[in-house]
Formats: sequence, structure tokens, C-alpha cells
Amino acid sequence: MMISLEKALERILQRMNPVESEQIAVTQADGRVLSESLIAGISLPMWDNSAMDGFALRAEDVHTASPEKPVLLSCLGEGAAGKPSSSQITPGTCLRIFTGSPMPEGADAVVMQEDTSRGEDSTDFVQVMDAVRPFENVRFRGEDIKENTTLASAGSRLSPFQASLAAATGSATLQVYRRPRVGILATGSELRDPGDILESGCIYESNRLLLRSLVRRAGAEPRVYPIVKDTLNATCLALSKAVDECDAIVTSGGVSVGDYDFIKPAIEALHGDIHFWRMRVKPGKPIVFGSVGSVPIFGLPGNPVSATVTCTLLVHPALARLGGERAFQHVYTRGRLAEPLSNRGDRHLFLRVSLGKDGVVRLSGANQASHALGSLAASDGLLGVPEGATLDSGEHVSVICWPRVP
Ligand code: AMP
Ligand code: MG
Repeated sequence: MMISLEKALERILQRMNPVESEQIAVTQADGRVLSESLIAGISLPMWDNSAMDGFALRAEDVHTASPEKPVLLSCLGEGAAGKPSSSQITPGTCLRIFTGSPMPEGADAVVMQEDTSRGEDSTDFVQVMDAVRPFENVRFRGEDIKENTTLASAGSRLSPFQASLAAATGSATLQVYRRPRVGILATGSELRDPGDILESGCIYESNRLLLRSLVRRAGAEPRVYPIVKDTLNATCLALSKAVDECDAIVTSGGVSVGDYDFIKPAIEALHGDIHFWRMRVKPGKPIVFGSVGSVPIFGLPGNPVSATVTCTLLVHPALARLGGERAFQHVYTRGRLAEPLSNRGDRHLFLRVSLGKDGVVRLSGANQASHALGSLAASDGLLGVPEGATLDSGEHVSVICWPRVP
């Protein structure tokens, strides 16, 4: 029995209990997941202030001003950034003011510097050459953010803009979920580290660096382990060490029905559980999901494309949940299909596609097999074609974009 993608994801997410939280400096908050809601400590702006470089005044005093008939005001001084003035604006007076400076008492508007002129020898007087309405060029206290409002809820991943908002509203530290520590293992006696000598029948190992990047893009902290030989003993030793040191484990290879596939037997030998094995997805069918103790184990197939597809579809949402994120969604892009595509098989097909600047979605390579790194490297994302479905040329489709560097 093969499990459907939807059911597989549901089963996985049910088992993801968020890791504990930690306190971090707000300067480190970009991309982190809040474990407590973020509340505005202060209003933004904190006080009524000027939206322009100009002069704060009483709108009433200049309501007849024009270039032909300027109004002369006496200037009481200036309120510069960080140096507010305590001057009181009375009829016939104004204050030199700059963008963001607090409005002086008595003033209700700001005239732009460009609509004024000042005498060469005296800065005590200003000619105002345009009328302003009451409150023109004034930003009001709290018009952007009100003190004590919720800026982002617990379980949300902060964008750089939200992190900046947290700092601006007075948070110096934030309570966030710790980044889950995720062990990355590659199994295969044929695998050699990049740079090593390849004996006959050996290949370069390339999944761990790929999975490491994908794990990082899911907001987790990867921990990469040495290559594991295809023996039950080596697999058990490597898995149990990773179980001791990590919050979750991602392995590649060794999950099929071959004589040298030891991930499932190793989970069982370590008294773990297999929650499901094999999924109705192409590529990626042999994926196994298990756990040892409380540590979830994602046994991904060894073929690089299969590992990428299953990591994207299942591991990424799982790690997001493990890291406290409550509503993770893949990022999709819409585009028009360049060519008709049909899936006559009985598994949900995922194709590697590229997105042209013209909004056209194309296969990123003719070879879409599960080992084909070429079409993977040329792709921008994944296009799903459900079993039995046909997509027409020109049809609008949604593409799952590869995740970005957090
Ligand atoms: P397996 O899932 O172990 O049967 O491996 C399937 C295919 O993927 C085989 O051709 C392996 O040599 C290849 N493969 C497995 N693991 C890796 C890896 N870490 N890097 C590159 N290729 C791999
Ligand atoms: Mg293998």
C-alpha cells in the first residue's frame, strides 16, 4: 500500500512537536519564528512630527499666502533631529523643522521649505509663498502603529520588515523557537566525498550538501554526518548517534527493496517505528517516515531528484512545524504552460520546470528521470501533475518555487 502525498504530509505534521524557545536579540530576528506574540511597546510615530523639511506654523496665519503675496513670519529657531525645540508657536511665528522632528506646541501644519524664502542676512524672518491646510505635512502620533497592538502572532516567521518593526516599537529581545537541529546522513557504499579518488563503480556524493541547503532554507540548523556504508551495523551506529544529537534526521538512500537498503531495518533494530513507507509520488516513491524515540526520521531515496522532491514536499513543511511555524505554505508562481503534459501513471508526478521572464513554464530538461541532475540544476521549481491528469499547452499552472535562502 502506497500512501498519498496529502495523507503522508498529514501524518508527518501530526508528529511534529515544536522545539523549545529561546531569547534572541532583535538584531537576529529576521527569519526566526515567534514563540510569543509580538506586541508594540510604543506607538509609531511616538509624537506628532513633520513629514517635510520646512517650517512648522499655524495654517491660519498663511491661508492667504501666494508667490505674489507672501506672508512674513518670525522664525523662533529650529527643531533638529534628536534636538526638539521647546518653542511655542504663537500667531505670526514659525519654527524651522526637519522631517521627523516633533511638532512644536501651537503649530498645526508644516510648509515645505521649497515654498518659502529667507532673507540673505537674517534668518529671523521667513516668507511663506503658499498656503497650507491645517495638519498638512504632519504625521500624527500612532497613525502607523498603536501601542499595545499585536504586530505578529506566535508561530509566525518574521520578515526583515517585521524584525525592523519590532526594533522600532521598542523590542530589544524576542522570544523565538530554537532552530531545530537536523542530522543529515547519506548511505551508500559507492559514495565518495568530493575530491576523493573514485575507484571503479564509485560516484561522488552530492546529496548531503543539497539537503543541507534545503534544511537551512526551512529555517533549521543542519548537522552533516560522514557517509554511511551499506551494512546494518554501520547504519544503526550512524542513526543512533544522530538520534542522540538532533531533533530530526534526514537520510538519503537505502530505502528501496535492494539487498543493501538498511534504513528501515536500522530503525526497527533501534526499537523505532515506521509510520509509513512508499508514497504515490513520482519521483520519490520509496520514502520512509519513521522515528526513534521522539526523533522523526525522514528516509529519502538516494536518487538526487527523488531526494529533492520529497525533501521539498514533506521535509520542508515538517521542519517548519518542528521550528514552531504554524502556517507554513510553499511559495507558488503562476505561469502558462509551453507544452501539453499528461500523466498516465498512477502516482502524482512532479516535473522540474523553469519559468521564463515571459511567464512561460517549460520543462527544464527533456530527461526528467529521478537521477537527472541536469534538469534539476536548470530548474526554478516543481510542477505537479496529478495521476491521470492532462495539462494543455497555454494552460495556467502553479509552480512550487524552490525555497530561498532565509
Ligand atoms: P538508493 O536509494 O540507495 O538505492 O540509491 C539510488 C541511486 O542514487 C543510486 O544510483 C545511488 O548511487 C544514488 N545515490 C544514493 N545516494 C547518493 C548520494 N548521497 N549522492 C549521489 N548519489 C546518490
Ligand atoms: Mg544505496
